[in-house]
Amino acid sequence: MERPRILILGGTGEGFALAERLADRSDLEAVSSLAGRTAAPRRPLGEYRTGGFGGVAGLRQYLIQNRIFAVLDATHPFANHISANAHHAAREAGIAICHIWREPWEPRGGDHWHEVATIEEAARSLPADATRVLLTIGSTELAAFCGRDDLDFVARVVAPIAAPPGEVWPKCLDFVYDRGPFSLANEIQLMRAHEISHMVTKNSGGEAARAKLDAARELSVGVTMVRRPPPPPGDLVASAGGALHWLDSQLAARPRSFSASQ
Ligand code: NAP
Repeated sequence: MERPRILILGGTGEGFALAERLADRSDLEAVSSLAGRTAAPRRPLGEYRTGGFGGVAGLRQYLIQNRIFAVLDATHPFANHISANAHHAAREAGIAICHIWREPWEPRGGDHWHEVATIEEAARSLPADATRVLLTIGSTELAAFCGRDDLDFVARVVAPIAAPPGEVWPKCLDFVYDRGPFSLANEIQLMRAHEISHMVTKNSGGEAARAKLDAARELSVGVTMVRRPPPPPGDLVASAGGALHWLDSQLAARPRSFSASQ
């Protein structure tokens, strides 16, 4: 009898956790999907695929051709294109989907946060007296800071990245190559070693990446926090555990004829 197939849209800690939790389940088959942005990506446990689907139409076709029963969208809260595409593709294909939407971080006593709506606003609003700015925003939006050659930057990224076509990275931008999760001790050491006065980060939420905020508070480093986009429509859960509960309720409610008709 054919087992229901589950698509995990990943690229996050929750995506890897879901792949691990579903890999040894005998009642279903899970396949993870990665965007394929990094040259040497961490690989999820079990079956996986890499690369874009080709927008809503491509993803809808993938869901139908691969007989996907349900989609677990464990992509990053700032990866809003894939989440919106997945919502529309699943709805058009009549397939259930839930999105993991972590609680955003809130400032705590002793934090010095300046909240902004976009990366461009973050770049514009950095104060001229920032001695050195740590950028923990990933690799795709660093060019927004190239105009601030009055400041020094350290960008933490997973692997070396090429400058935008026809450009070179400015001398005021240094790179640190590392992959999380990072402990509080790691983060304090990094900020001290580079004499960081300010940090720019996105409000990703969750526990895995919050040590940098605790380090910033401890070292009185100013934080420019990019607010997250609105959540995708539809079913939202806060964690990988919540997504598993949601999946189990979908499996329990499925018609007995599901296996035969797929
Ligand atoms: P995005 O803007 O929402 O996605 C752009 C396009 O990349 C999508 O339209 C889709 O292409 C493809 N894509 C994205 N995630 C995919 C996945 N898991 N599997 C297959 N295709 C995917 O996303 P992004 O911000 O560039 O992030 C890319 C990936 O990195 C995401 O999977 C996300 O979980 C992870 N990530 C992002 C951030 C962040 O800050 N944005 C941080 C950590 C991890 P098609 O339209 O061709 O299907």
